[in-house]
Amino acid sequence: MAKLIDGREVAETLKSKLLTLTETLAKETGVKPGLAILRVGEDPASQLYVHTKGISAKEIGFHFEEHAFPAWVAPAALESTIQELNQSPHIHGIILQLPLPTPLDKAYFLSLVDPQKDVDGLHPLNVGKLFQGSSGGFVPPTPLGCLLLLQTLYPSLEGRMVGIVGGSALVGKPMAMLMLQQGATVWVAHSKTVNLPALCETAEILIVAIGSPGFIQGEWIQNGATVLDVGINRLASGKIVGDVDFATAEKRAGAITPVPGGVGPMTVVSLLRNTLESAYRSVGWEFPVL
Ligand code: NAP
Repeated sequence: MAKLIDGREVAETLKSKLLTLTETLAKETGVKPGLAILRVGEDPASQLYVHTKGISAKEIGFHFEEHAFPAWVAPAALESTIQELNQSPHIHGIILQLPLPTPLDKAYFLSLVDPQKDVDGLHPLNVGKLFQGSSGGFVPPTPLGCLLLLQTLYPSLEGRMVGIVGGSALVGKPMAMLMLQQGATVWVAHSKTVNLPALCETAEILIVAIGSPGFIQGEWIQNGATVLDVGINRLASGKIVGDVDFATAEKRAGAITPVPGGVGPMTVVSLLRNTLESAYRSVGWEFPVL
């Protein structure tokens, strides 16, 4: 049976380090890290995610603001709030909670966020920095959280064969770039990929983010592989499950994240980490490696 990778525990350890760093910053500079989230429409999952992020931010002493708009918001109103937050000295991290209701243009609004406060790492400048492997940008919290989890299991990822199922801009693509930077060999599969089961079997580390409940079967997984299940799917029964069929996968994998309690808590803590790093940069302080 696979070892369970306890994302909650790793996230709590990281959170207590962030709390100490937040206190040091406040004591020596008077700066309190500030996180603002813009949410448009009434998507229940988005409401829950924003609520969770807000609670975690306040727990470690951040200032937190939620700016909620109706789905019919005038684009100019959204635009001017982003500009105000860009200018605010109290705000170090700005998130545009996705998805945005149609017809709002996600790419346009993301490009309005000040790249220095873009703690979701989705501004084109930060995406470009990640692709170039340059420092000073922000990495999207979910792939960053996955990397931090893997670093608790592997002293180095050099030469590891990493398979990523799902090539979204939010998870799969930045995940691939991070893994390449770590010296891993990487493939990325998507909905057009042929013979996914055989491909999955080549991966010593399999990271899955597709949004399809229980899609990846245990027999596809290499014996002893590490599996990170990013998927969050709510079944009709209300149960939350991942993209990996956990019951069959835990018989083959060496280690696996549960859903919930695996990657999810790491996403939230990585977002806090990025926001704190932004606050450190705002006073010219170097952020320590965590
Ligand atoms: P997305 O934007 O919908 O992208 C899904 C990706 O999966 C696409 O690249 C798609 O391929 C690929 N895909 C879909 N069906 C596939 C299949 N049958 N075989 C292979 N690839 C397939 O989704 P996302 O935003 O990345 O989110 C994915 C999942 O992760 C969702 O369940 C989401 O809720 C969850 N999530 C969790 C966290 C967390 O903190 N745990 C954070 C973010 C997202 P194409 O490119 O060909 O369409």
